[in-house]
Amino acid sequence: MKKFLKVASIVLVIAMIACFAACGGNTDADTNNGDTTEAPKAVLTMATNAAFPPYEYKEGDAYAGIDIEIAQAIADKLDMTLEIKDVEFGSIIGGVQSGKFDMGIAGMTVTDERLESVNFSTSYATGIQVVIVAEGSDIKSLDDLKGDGSMKFGVQQDTTGDIYASDTIENGGYGEDNVIRYKTGADAVQALKAGKVQAVIIDNEPAKAFVAANEGLAILDGEWTKEDYAIAIAKENTELLTKVNDALAELEDEGKLAEIIDKYIPAE
Ligand code: GLN
Repeated sequence: MKKFLKVASIVLVIAMIACFAACGGNTDADTNNGDTTEAPKAVLTMATNAAFPPYEYKEGDAYAGIDIEIAQAIADKLDMTLEIKDVEFGSIIGGVQSGKFDMGIAGMTVTDERLESVNFSTSYATGIQVVIVAEGSDIKSLDDLKGDGSMKFGVQQDTTGDIYASDTIENGGYGEDNVIRYKTGADAVQALKAGKVQAVIIDNEPAKAFVAANEGLAILDGEWTKEDYAIAIAKENTELLTKVNDALAELEDEGKLAEIIDKYIPAE
């Protein structure tokens, strides 16, 4: 009898384990069938260039930065799944315009020229163009910058730094021939370290991050320009523009926007 009980209990345990596994499987299958669960969330694609710390950069395989967190917070409010597309900065506007991406978030400055192609959300941050030089360089101030061929300027292709620096000397630039364009700001900074260019014109926060991460570089005193960062959205997608602006306003009211920015740009 005792032996029978023992066998019976072993059988019972095996049966329970089998049932447990099977039941678990059924539950999964039900979920996948979508009988009782909600439909999958719609996808919100964001195009960025993840070489622009602290706005967007990669930490191993993961994306991090102010823009990434703001985009995620907007997607959460819209009950959508955020999908990040890491592309060249210069292809963001075209991709948004053609509908390839829902929005472009890349520390992107609102300019009149870009406004001809896309709409911009309300601005969520301010950017300033600054100049990075090598420590000990003869270039000591913004006044020492010259478009006379004696120095080369490194910029990230298609950014406002590129657009302004490449402009004619009469318009406050240094002339196209004196500007060397790189795919990312990081590449421009490497060119500065290697002596291929004598100054890099770039947004102030990435400039600080690059100077902190690389020895022997310094930021010149003074601001080259002041700019507003906003989210690019296709002109015809006014529905998304309204939703994004509403989400941004809510994030601002909740203090979430300031919280995200403070996390990456601690007050000095
Ligand atoms: N703010 C600059 C621009 O909009 C640079 C942006 C960037 O390099 N990600 O052109």
